[in-house]
Amino acid sequence: MEESKAVTLTKSLLHDYYEYGSTLGLAELMEEGTVAFGVHSEDFAVGKEKAIALLEEEWKGIEPCRIVKINGTERQTKNGPTVHAHVIFHTNNRMFNMHSVIFMFDITESKRLLIRGIHISRDARHEKTYQRVSSDLLNRGESNTESQQSVMGLVANYVNFSYVTYYLEDNEPFSYYGEDLWKMLGYASRTAFESRMVRPCRQQLIYEPDRELVNEEMRGQLMGKDNCQVEYRIRRRDGSLIWVMECGRAVRNPKTGVKTISSIITNISPLKQTHERFLFALRHDKLTGLYNKQAFCRRTEEILMRHQDEEFEILAFDIDRFKVINDLFGEATGDRLLRYIADFLRHVELPLMTYGRLHSDHFIVCYPVQKNARDHLITSLKTLAASFALDYRVEFSFGVYRVSDRTLSMNAMCDRALIALSQAKENGLIECGVYIEDMRSSMVNEQVITNHMRDSLAHQDFVIYLQPKYDIEKNRIVGAESLVRWSHPKLGFVSPGKFIPVFEHNGFIYQLDKYVWEKSCEFLRRSLDLDKPALPISVNVSRIDLYSPDIVKDFVDLVRKYNLPPRLLELELTESAYVDNPQHIIDITKQLQQYGFPILMDDFGSGYSSLNMLKDLPVDVLKIDLKFLDYVDGSPEATRGNSILRSIVRMAQWLDLKVIAEGVETSRQVDFLRSIGCRYVQGYYYSKPVPVETYERMCREEQKAPKRQQGASEPGIRG
Ligand code: C2E
Ligand code: CA
Ligand code: CA
Repeated sequence: MEESKAVTLTKSLLHDYYEYGSTLGLAELMEEGTVAFGVHSEDFAVGKEKAIALLEEEWKGIEPCRIVKINGTERQTKNGPTVHAHVIFHTNNRMFNMHSVIFMFDITESKRLLIRGIHISRDARHEKTYQRVSSDLLNRGESNTESQQSVMGLVANYVNFSYVTYYLEDNEPFSYYGEDLWKMLGYASRTAFESRMVRPCRQQLIYEPDRELVNEEMRGQLMGKDNCQVEYRIRRRDGSLIWVMECGRAVRNPKTGVKTISSIITNISPLKQTHERFLFALRHDKLTGLYNKQAFCRRTEEILMRHQDEEFEILAFDIDRFKVINDLFGEATGDRLLRYIADFLRHVELPLMTYGRLHSDHFIVCYPVQKNARDHLITSLKTLAASFALDYRVEFSFGVYRVSDRTLSMNAMCDRALIALSQAKENGLIECGVYIEDMRSSMVNEQVITNHMRDSLAHQDFVIYLQPKYDIEKNRIVGAESLVRWSHPKLGFVSPGKFIPVFEHNGFIYQLDKYVWEKSCEFLRRSLDLDKPALPISVNVSRIDLYSPDIVKDFVDLVRKYNLPPRLLELELTESAYVDNPQHIIDITKQLQQYGFPILMDDFGSGYSSLNMLKDLPVDVLKIDLKFLDYVDGSPEATRGNSILRSIVRMAQWLDLKVIAEGVETSRQVDFLRSIGCRYVQGYYYSKPVPVETYERMCREEQKAPKRQQGASEPGIRG
């Protein structure tokens, strides 16, 4: 009989446990020493002895539990050896003395104790009491005060128990109800209870909505069912409800034929509360009380299932620079802000809306698509944030996934909203990104690239190509730019346009650049050793590299290592880097320039800096990419590009800066550049980036050809 109840409890607990997975955090439920699990071990050790010792050690500190028994067996699973342990513990709480809880653990390699099973059963002592009571009554066929008293003596230890006997008819006055029951209900005695009732009867004890259930169970008894067990609520004197479990047996008086029920009524509220707390902790985020991701997903799934015709969208959002808020104002303020947002979500009135907190400052909301719903949410959130008392502007980024494919898992839908969010963050200009299929493939690519980059560097899958730079007056090569190429055995050729942004994003660019710089120096050294006229090589320096504290030392060490004059290693810094953090970049480039490295401002004209600021920047050469000038070939006079180019060149001459045009593809462009006095060019018109050997050959051939003019100045474009 008890067994079946134990199974019910076990099933529901197990169900929730499995549903929500992790054992982490459950130790919190230990507060009141009720159900304890989720302990995790730092020191994973295989072996039964060790595992048991470990469990014992960990459980020792858990008050107010008392371990009665631990045993375990060692098993081989496909994840390696695990120990399967049973723990039986009693809590010191009197109420729970009646329960043994058996946990079956697997100690896995991840050092977690995974609960495989949990079994709640009644305490053996109570079981005996119960059996004695029932056999006593059954044997004698009737109850008498004496036997009741002796039974009461036996159960006297259990404050929250009461032993009762009553007739089965509805509205029957109380036959025998142990005094403990009245105490449990907050009355001084049975008389105290009865004095408050017009017609005191058993039914009145039971909370109305539960009466039908109890009656049904009782009818079962009359139909000859062997025993009864039912959980229901009764109201206490102060109006509060408590959960009780009634376990009893129908007894027929052989002489009179009258049936009575003998039961034990147990207050199971603490157990219920524990279970509920357990469920709450599993489903809710501790800080904000909002649903956690799993619960959000489960709830949202249900809603989507039930509202097939409705269109939904999922909105993910986070706080911009949340870390800064934590750093500047302290974590308590950060937490307060998160709770503030949670409160906001609780008060939004959108039918069918679900929401939760994923982690840190990431929130998620799902709601039916309707006019202005999204705008309304976003604007009200922003208005609210503006009123959060903080000397800092709280801003958000948003990402939306419009639920178009309902076969996707909720997790996948959330991921799509998060992808849109991260794109919005990256873009900087848009506040709310909307998911489109492309985004996912670009993320996937980003992942693939990240997965392969380190191995590729180790296997030298990255090589440098050189793109020659020309002096159009003398029609000669004056140097080259090192451009990295990635040829992966499986991915094939990956274009820098794809992987450079990824590496800048994940920081790998610095390692790759150092490799490119080193290869370029090797090349320069080789040329010098072969007694060739050494033409400078320019290398790209990513804005990310500039944040390395070693950047200046890196270059100085390199030219020392290869014994090169620094003027041969030109550094290309993209124009936009100067805008990021002007003072820092200016400091670094000044130092580099002082060491003798020529500084080129790459992609000049791409729209960030003004000509005016040039006079303050440590720059030797402006590199103008024609594509930034919406240069329409074929109508030179008409284009805005031409006039911009003309003024840049004039201004540069004025400031004593060299200019090189890149992306030069046609003879018309060359003619125009020549006409405005732009002497140096780089582009497909002359040569694409080529392997190092090809470049060497090109230089050699040029030397042989009688093109060299009188009075050729020093090679290189720095002058
Ligand atoms: P960038 O520094 O502006 O390099 C010039 C890009 O323009 C190169 O593309 C080059 O192949 C291409 N190009 C040269 N002439 C022409 C032309 O006439 N027409 C057209 N349409 N394109 C031309 P690539 O090699 O694909 O590199 C793209 C960008 O990737 C580079 O732009 C640079 O920002 C970055 N990058 C390349 N190699 C490295 C590297 O080793 N380190 C770093 N940090 N960035 C690199
Ligand atoms: Ca460049
Ligand atoms: Ca460029």
